[in-house]
Amino acid sequence: MHIVVDTHTHSVASGHAFSTLGELAEAAAAKGLAGFVLTDHGPSMPGGAHPWHFGNLRVLPSRISGVRFWKGIEANIIDNKGGIDLADSELARLDFVLAGFHEVCFASGSREENTRALIAALANPWVDAISHPGNPAFPVDLAAVVRAACQEGKALEINNSSFTIRRGSDANCLGMARLLAESGGRLVVGSDAHFHGDVGNFSKALAVIGEAGVPATLVVNSDLAGFEAFLAERATARAELVRRALPAQ
Ligand SMILES: [Zn+2]
Ligand SMILES: [Zn+2]
Repeated sequence: MHIVVDTHTHSVASGHAFSTLGELAEAAAAKGLAGFVLTDHGPSMPGGAHPWHFGNLRVLPSRISGVRFWKGIEANIIDNKGGIDLADSELARLDFVLAGFHEVCFASGSREENTRALIAALANPWVDAISHPGNPAFPVDLAAVVRAACQEGKALEINNSSFTIRRGSDANCLGMARLLAESGGRLVVGSDAHFHGDVGNFSKALAVIGEAGVPATLVVNSDLAGFEAFLAERATARAELVRRALPAQ
């Protein structure tokens, strides 16, 4: 299986990442990717991108350095009611919304509390996928999370960086991938690059997906047409929200 779109990349706009958008694009092209999504951290993370960063992504072209470029965010889950840290008026301009737990923005609770918060985030109509749900710092009931993701038509991420920076993710990610394979739930694979050298690095995530027996048809960024179809499906699902959030043209 090949991953053709990197759905999780950070630029200097994240505050603790080290490459520019141009460097990320060149790295994506050099790795032979069809494209990548820029998913800088939401504003509630210290040093995270300002809300205007997300609103102003509209000035960027849809191709950079010969590869497709999509506008995204890695939003922070900020409460247990599905809240994320960007206003509708900016969310409406994005192509892809990842949301995830980060300790500085939301304190980990019990397994039940974390599960409730993650299921509420999955029900947020702006959210397309959950970043690193296998993070052991936020224990969750993975079977319940997978059920909710399937119900909502959202994807769960296997994050290639988790295997080195979120120690203990391996067993959770393998278990989650097996549950998704059994139930026909969808996955995305992201590098979570904070440096352009890591764009397109998926080897550990792909090993887990292979071990779990996940078919390529369930991995939304394993082919370009499949990824575009996923984005189109999500855009249709939130079309009414977008209409309400943006000023009349
Ligand atoms: Zn980060
Ligand atoms: Zn993250």
